Amino acid sequence: MQNEKHMRPIPYGRQHITEADIQAVVETLQSDFLTQGPKVAEFEQAFVRYVGARYAVAVSNGTAALHLCAMALGVNESSRVITTPITFVASANCVRYCGGTVEFCDIDPATALIDIEQVRQMVESKPRGYYSGIIPVDFAGNPVNLEELRQLADEHGLWIIEDAAHSPGGFFVDSKGERQFCGNGKFAELAIFSFHPVKHIATSEGGMVTTNDEALYKKLLLYRTHGITRDADLLEENHGGWYMEMQALGYNYRIPDMLCALGISQLSRADEGMVRRRQIAQVYDEAFADAKGIAVLGTNPAAMTDAGETGHAYHLYVIQVADRKGLYDFLRGHQIFAQVHYIPAHTMPYYRSLGHKKGDFPKAERYYEACLSLPMYPTLTEEEQAYVIEKVKEFCKA
Ligand SMILES: *Cc1c(COP(=O)(O)O)cnc(C)c1O
Repeated sequence: MQNEKHMRPIPYGRQHITEADIQAVVETLQSDFLTQGPKVAEFEQAFVRYVGARYAVAVSNGTAALHLCAMALGVNESSRVITTPITFVASANCVRYCGGTVEFCDIDPATALIDIEQVRQMVESKPRGYYSGIIPVDFAGNPVNLEELRQLADEHGLWIIEDAAHSPGGFFVDSKGERQFCGNGKFAELAIFSFHPVKHIATSEGGMVTTNDEALYKKLLLYRTHGITRDADLLEENHGGWYMEMQALGYNYRIPDMLCALGISQLSRADEGMVRRRQIAQVYDEAFADAKGIAVLGTNPAAMTDAGETGHAYHLYVIQVADRKGLYDFLRGHQIFAQVHYIPAHTMPYYRSLGHKKGDFPKAERYYEACLSLPMYPTLTEEEQAYVIEKVKEFCKA
């Protein structure tokens, strides 16, 4: 490509900050509220409308959101929780924060999502009560079929935390043909989102929990701020206007007002961003359709409408190639910073120290050997994408 030398480095993901975003932050910075102000509830309300859930609790990051969910569901030393090894480690770590045991389940190689049939086998091989819950992950933005998972969970008395960090705006189509948006609270007790800069909505650091369960919502509010409440209806005593009670051991997982102002501004452009992500995916799909040696990670069939519309939220665009390290290094040499998602969690030294080992989940490990996430973000230009495609094909001789 002619202007290769003038091109800026191309990362796998990046935030999109506009003048309106900056103005929103500046205005809040000049207001009376540096931490907890009106923007927190405003962001929560806007988010609830976006995903279609009843309640939302904004927190300091997605990991804190996961921790609060595990606490609210009562995870403790006797809990065993099932999750996927192909995720960011925080999906599993939240169980460990509460002293519980993480049980991984292998993936469906077609989508790299947790294999629901295998979850069923795990759960059915043990007495009722052996497992406490499941943490499915809408990996890469590809929604898990939560209707199917809910059915299984109900049969066995399990709760579900949907890790929707990759999938705000994504949906699957239920058995009645209705679109079910990720984190809408209809199937999972709780869902979490992250606003890390590579995710769809960026607040620098930030996260959200959504739920339709009022009792869980109240617990989240309590645990978000030290376990302290001032709510007159909840107080055991009341000594006067200053009075508050610490009723549980909580944390400081609050998100500042100015980051919520940024989140509100970002969220107002989320639909545009989603359209662009899906366009980019379509261009990649077409470019690699007949390319020998380049396999595109599939979309969950449950996330496709009859009319062929996709519910995939495309946080990532993942291909699989035989010489993944070769391609990764080659692209880097051309200022294209593709990334690997993920090193299977059970092979991490920490999880190995708990008894997990390489070889436990062969499909996840095989997926890891070949996967590479190509640049995917709304401001990726057509020219940049064409360059990425050209370089991938050049290396793969496709
Ligand atoms: C990013 C991410 C998280 C954690 O979010 P942070 O805001 O970075 O703490 C959790 N789960 C998944 C799948 C993620 O990608």
